[in-house]
Amino acid sequence: MEDIKFSDLGLSSQIMRAVEEMGFQTASPIQAQAIPYQLEGLDVIGQAQTGTGKTAAFGIPLLEKVDPKNKNLQAIILCPTRELAIQVAEEMRKLAKFMHGIKTLSIYGGQDITKQIRGLKSGVNIVIGTPGRVMDHMRRRTLKLDQVHTIILDEADEMLNMGFREDIETILTDIPKDRQTILFSATMPRPIMDITKKFQKNAKVIKVVKKELTVSNIDQYYFEVRPKNKDEVLSRLLDIYEPKLSLVFCNTKRKVDELVLALQERGYFAEGLHGDLKQSQRDRVMNGFRHGKTSILVATDVAARGIDVDDVEAVFNYDIPQDEEYYVHRIGRTGRAGRTGQAFSFVVGREIIKLREIQKYCKTKIELKKVPGLKDVTNKKLTKVLDQVDNKIQDENLEAMIQILENQVEDKDYSIMDVAAAFLKMSLGEEREEKEPVSRGFEQTGAKDGMVRFFLNIGRKQNTKPGDILGAIAGETGIKGKLVGAIDVYDKYSFVEVPKEYAKDVLYGMENAKIKGKSVNIEIANRK
Ligand code: ADP
Ligand code: MG
Repeated sequence: MEDIKFSDLGLSSQIMRAVEEMGFQTASPIQAQAIPYQLEGLDVIGQAQTGTGKTAAFGIPLLEKVDPKNKNLQAIILCPTRELAIQVAEEMRKLAKFMHGIKTLSIYGGQDITKQIRGLKSGVNIVIGTPGRVMDHMRRRTLKLDQVHTIILDEADEMLNMGFREDIETILTDIPKDRQTILFSATMPRPIMDITKKFQKNAKVIKVVKKELTVSNIDQYYFEVRPKNKDEVLSRLLDIYEPKLSLVFCNTKRKVDELVLALQERGYFAEGLHGDLKQSQRDRVMNGFRHGKTSILVATDVAARGIDVDDVEAVFNYDIPQDEEYYVHRIGRTGRAGRTGQAFSFVVGREIIKLREIQKYCKTKIELKKVPGLKDVTNKKLTKVLDQVDNKIQDENLEAMIQILENQVEDKDYSIMDVAAAFLKMSLGEEREEKEPVSRGFEQTGAKDGMVRFFLNIGRKQNTKPGDILGAIAGETGIKGKLVGAIDVYDKYSFVEVPKEYAKDVLYGMENAKIKGKSVNIEIANRK
C-alpha cells in the first residue's frame, strides 16, 4: 500500500500543525483507513496491534468533530487503566495543541473525586477515563451525558479482560442513542463482537493485521539495570529463556571483547565480532554461529551488518543503540522468516529517554520487565534437570547404577533421598551469589544535586557524632573528609551525603565498617 499522508485526509490546519510537530510523517495503516470513516460520522471497529497509532486514529477525527464553543461534555474515551488513560490524554492534548478552547480531562480511580468533580464543572469537552470511575461520576450525576455525541472504547479487549463488561454496557446504554460509537482493540474475541452487535450501528470493520514494521512479531522488553549488573542480568536471561542462538549488541569494540570474556568465564559459548577482526577470523566466528557451535554472538552494529542467520531467537541490546535506526536493524535479526523472536534492551538511568525515542520512531511498545531473580533461574534449571531425569528413567536401563547406590547406602548412614538431593544440587551447577541489583540507582535519595544520601543504622543513642561517621568513611574508603557532605545524626540513625562519583565506594567500603565499636549497616536513603 502506498503511504498515505495526513494531508490527503482533509484535516484542519490546526491538526496538521500538531501532527507535524509530533513528527508524524505518514499516517499509519490503521490511521489511513479509520480516520476517513470516522470523519463521515460512521461507527468503526478498528483492530491493530499495539504501537500502531490507534490513539491518533480515533483522536484526530474526534478532535475534528468536537465543538470548542460548546462547553458541555461531548465525548467519552474509555481506557482500561489509569496509565493508559493518562497516555491517551497526553496524546490528545498534543493533537489538540493548536485548537483553541478544547478541554480534556482524565478521570480514574485512586484520584481525589472532589477534585475531578471540580474539573468536570469547568466545561470539559472530552473525558478520558476508566469505566469504573466514569460509572461513579454517572451515578453522582457529575457527568452530564445529554450532549455526548461520541463514545470511544480504547483497548476494548483489555477492558473486558479486566471485568469491565457490565460497566461498559451500562455506560453505552445511558449515552444518547444518536451518537457515534468507536471501538479499538488489538484482538477481537467473541464478547467484543457481542458488544458491537448490541451497541454499534453498521460499523465499518477495519483490520490491520499486516505488520507495519518488520518487528511486529518480536516481543520487545527492556530492563532497568546498573552498568555493573549487565553481565549478571544477561546471564539470567540467557538461562531462563535459553535462546538457541542469540545476538548481543554492544556500542564499542572494547565492550565486545570484555563481554565475550565475561560470558566465556561463566561457561557460555560466546564469540565476538567487530571491525578489528581479520576476514579469516570473522569467517570462523560466523561459521561457528551459523552451525550452532557458538550460541551467543556479541557484536557491534557495523560488524553485524549483513549477518543473515535465520534462527536467531533473541537479540540483546546490552548497550542501547545510539541511533534509532540501529534498533530496528538490530532486532530485525530475530523473528525472521515468519518466526517469532525476542528483543531485550538494557536501560541505564537516563537512557530511558533514548528508549522512548526509539519507541516513537519504531511506533512500537517496549515493555518494562523485572530482572529475573536467582530463584527464577534455579527453578528453570530444576525443571530442566527433572525432565531429563524423567527421560533417563523411562528410556534407559539403570540396573547397574541402582546396584551401586544400594551398596553405598548400606555402607553409609544416609538415605537414597540424601543421595538424590546431593545429585540434584550438583546438577544445578555452581550457585551464583545473589547480588540483588540495588533496584533504585543513586538518583532519588533526596540528596543535594550531584550527591547521594545514605542511611546508617546508628545515631545519638550510640553516642555517634558527625565526626565519627566522617572518620569512618574517610578511613574505609580513602576519600577526603572535606568531600563528604551533610551529616545528620538522629536518635537511632543518621544520614550522610557523599558525591555521586564516590557513592559506590562508600556503599561497598562501609559494608564491614565499625563505628564506636558497633558494626554499621549502610543503605541508600529513600527519598521521603
Ligand atoms: P497503539 O494505541 O496502537 O498501541 P499509540 O497510539 O500509543 O499506539 O502510538 C504509539 C506511538 O506511535 C506513540 O508514541 C505515537 O505518538 C506514535 N505514532 C502514532 N501515529 C504515528 C504516525 N503516523 N507516525 C509516527 N508516529 C506515530
Ligand atoms: Mg493504545
